[in-house]
Amino acid sequence: MQQQQQQQRKKQTFSRRKACRFCSDKSQSVDYKEIKTLRHFVTDQGKIIPRRIFGTCAKHQRQVTDAIKKARQIALLPYAGHLNF
Ligand SMILES: [Zn+2]
Repeated sequence: MQQQQQQQRKKQTFSRRKACRFCSDKSQSVDYKEIKTLRHFVTDQGKIIPRRIFGTCAKHQRQVTDAIKKARQIALLPYAGHLNF
């Protein structure tokens, strides 16, 4: 049983660390008015996708969450429910 667990652990592959898309592409900036980029960071339910999935760096993730929250306040993004674009 213990051996099996160890084997399972070994099987886990570590995917390559994804680079932050805002760091790699300097032309892209975090803007609360740009829903096109922001909506990549939101699920269908309108939730903000965590950093570990996109690999966004801490600095930019903070900017993204702030931008999303701002966009929600002015009704560019929903707080909950489906996105209809
Ligand atoms: Zn970054």
